[in-house]
Amino acid sequence: MSTPKRWTKQYEGTDNFKHAKITETLNKTKPNTEKEVIDIIGNVSWTRLSCSACGSDEEIAIEFIKGIIHEQDAIVICEDCLKNALSMINSVKVIK
Ligand SMILES: [Zn+2]
Repeated sequence: MSTPKRWTKQYEGTDNFKHAKITETLNKTKPNTEKEVIDIIGNVSWTRLSCSACGSDEEIAIEFIKGIIHEQDAIVICEDCLKNALSMINSVKVIK
């Protein structure tokens, strides 16, 4: 689902003027690039994945989701944190 559609779904019927204005602008301008979406929303939170471990905003990351899919329940891990975790696991295996 595109960012404008996800945004609209989350904020439809909102009383928040700022969010309603963003919804209107997204649906009117139909942005095609990440930069256009960021310019309208004002931050990268809707175009990047924030790593649950280190907090960095990433273009590519892995989402771990248990059970029914609720975006807020997902754990996002970036490549660097995955590599660090794997390195730690491998170091423990060597010690055994
Ligand atoms: Zn990370």
